[in-house]
Parts: sequence; C-alpha cells; structure tokens
Amino acid sequence: MGKNSFNIAVFPGDGVGTEIMQEALKILRLIADKKKISLEFSEGYIGGAAYDRFGEPLPEQSLDLAMQSDAVLLGAVGGPRWEALEYKFRPERALLGLREKMGLYANLRPVVVFEELLDASPLKEEVVRGIDIMIVRELTGDIYFGQPRGVFKEKSGRRKGVNTMVYTEEEISRIAVRAFEIARKRKKNLLSVDKANVLECTELWRSVVSEVGRDYSDVTLKHMYVDNCAMQLIRNPAQFDVIVTTNLFGDILSDEAAMLTGSIGMLPSASLGKDKALYEPIHGSAPDIAGKNIANPLATILSVALLLRYTMARPAEAELVEKAVAGVLQEGYRTQDIFQEGKKLVGTAEMGDLTWKKLAGLLN
Ligand code: NAD
Repeated sequence: MGKNSFNIAVFPGDGVGTEIMQEALKILRLIADKKKISLEFSEGYIGGAAYDRFGEPLPEQSLDLAMQSDAVLLGAVGGPRWEALEYKFRPERALLGLREKMGLYANLRPVVVFEELLDASPLKEEVVRGIDIMIVRELTGDIYFGQPRGVFKEKSGRRKGVNTMVYTEEEISRIAVRAFEIARKRKKNLLSVDKANVLECTELWRSVVSEVGRDYSDVTLKHMYVDNCAMQLIRNPAQFDVIVTTNLFGDILSDEAAMLTGSIGMLPSASLGKDKALYEPIHGSAPDIAGKNIANPLATILSVALLLRYTMARPAEAELVEKAVAGVLQEGYRTQDIFQEGKKLVGTAEMGDLTWKKLAGLLN
C-alpha cells in the first residue's frame, strides 16, 4: 500500500483562478472522501493577489507552503492591473520562482481531443480524431538559463544580444528517464525531438536519450528534428504518443499541440520534480471573463486527475475523473468557450457540479 496522506498547497491566484479552483477542489474532496485518502489543504496567495497583500508575487509564506507540500494546485496568475509593474514584481515571476525553488524539471502536457469537441479544432476532424499525446518538456535548463546571457555593447558601440543553449548529461538523462517511465505506462512509443543536425548541445541530447533508452528495451525510441516535428503535429498528429524535448522546443511545440484541440479551457498540465509537483491548467487568468461565472473549470479539474495519477499514484481514480468530464460533455453540457448550437450552455459552478455528480455516480 502506497502513501495515503498528502499535503496539498492551494493557490487560486488571480482572475478566473478562484472560480475554477473551487470546482477542482470539490472533485478532489469527493475522491478523497470516497477512497479514504487523507488530505491536508493549505491555501496561499500568489501572483497579483499576493503582490496586493504582501508587495511581492511569491511571498515567503507561500513559498514555505509549496515547499512543505506534496503537491501544489494552482489556478492562474496575472492581469492588466499588474502589467505595468517592474519585472520582478510581476505575477508571472511567481511561477518561475516556484519552478526553480521546487526543482520542477519536467513539464507534462497531455493533449487529448475529446470526441465531442472534435469540431472545436481548427484542423479537419479526420486529422485530429484520436489524438492522445503527452508532451514532456524539460523545464529548468537550456537557453532560458544558460550563461552568458544579456545584451552587450561591442567595442564598435553596436549592441549584441546573447543567450546560451546548455544541457548537462545529468539534466538530459533525468528527463529522459521520466519520459521513458511515462511511455512505458502508455503505448510504449517515445519520440525525442532535437536539432542535432545543427546544434551540438542537442547532439548530446540525442546521444544521452539513446543511452538511457538501453534500459527501456520495451519502449520504442525514435528521434525527430524539431522543424519536422512542428510540421508533423499539423499533418498527422495522431502518430504521436509521448514526445520528450528541450525547454525551448517544448515551449513552442506544446503550445502548437494545445491548439490542435482548439479549446484552451480543457487542457491541464503537471510540472514534476524529484519529490515535488505542481498542477495547473495551461490557460492564464482570463481577465476578460473573470468574476462572471463563465470560465471553463475542466482544465483545472483535469489537472486534479494528473495530481491523482502522478503524486498520489492513483491511476484508476485519475481515469474516473477523466471519464466524468467526458460523460458531462457527452450529455451536451458546454461552457461558453466550447459552446455550439444545440448544446446546453452552463456556467463555471454548474459545470463543476455536473462533473461532481457524474463522478459521484462512477465512484458508487
Ligand atoms: P489567457 O489564457 O488568460 O486567455 C486567453 C483567452 O482564452 C481569453 O480570451 C480567455 O477568456 C480565454 N480563456 C482562458 N482560460 C479560459 C477558461 N478556463 N475558460 C474559458 N475561456 C478561457 O491568456 P492571456 O489573455 O494572454 O493572459 C491573461 C493573463 O494571464 C496575463 O496576465 C498573462 O500573463 C497570464 N497568464 C498566466 C498563465 C499562468 O498562470 N500559468 C499562463 C498564461 C498567461
């Protein structure tokens, strides 16, 4: 029997964060009650909400909560009110701070197209049908952190911008291990994406991923150049199972893949470290619709499914949450962002309640 009690730090954040978080917590509490999982919740301020109260986006007490937790559940941060602030006070800095301090080196983005939402995709139905991709993006290395960096003045007086792409063998092998482990529990196909034909740093990436692959003979490993991958994601996305890639390439490819679904309010994410994790929807704080009870809570509810799968090692319960979401969509309920003629329009709280009821039925 694995661990059965968990500390969860809850950061609703800004904008729609509070509304969607309430619905996600209802789902998590229901599972915990029914499955006798003991959960300790501690709520903290982050982003603009924290800046307004404490003068910084990631105050010490919130960081402490995160560091003492088994997992963080986060809504979203940011909004026009804080856009003019100096860079270090911006709400989005809190996310970078958390990633760094919690050592979250693996970002997981599942991209699944629900049958009921096929026509929300900008691509043809026959291209997106059956998409079930897991993108594993390295999150703490690469050109975003490498030194030297900056804008420098040359002797001639002209400016020069510099960033440095760096990966150590250890950084590559730990993300490769994560990706192989995930592929092993799925269809056992791993694609590593690099630009080994022109970038030495990713030549090392390719070698190390292949070396790690020797311990995973049950998983089929392939390699692809990033430019080809960007093309294939549009041409034939159903070919992919698990994709592992660098921080920069993953940043771009995961947004491209997200758009295949056409519904930003449906996509969850997980960021994993050695023994810490953070779960959040991929969308932002949606200030344009905040406080109106119209935001889609399903991305955050699906982030709870990831929390069950990766922090609590409860894959069966994670699947039930995903099934409950699919069930509610099958019955025709839609929030405004995924609404189509002939469907039933519901608000944030109602979508949460419907999912709760569906899940309660599945748990009985
Ligand atoms: P956004 O994701 O907040 O919104 C983009 C569009 O999608 C908006 O029209 C919004 O209404 C819609 N949308 C987003 N989530 C939705 C949901 N759950 N249901 C229905 N519709 C939804 O991106 P943006 O407008 O570029 O950014 C707004 C703020 O969020 C900015 O301050 C930005 O920096 C911040 N942001 C935060 C995160 C994060 O917290 N992880 C991520 C991205 C952006």
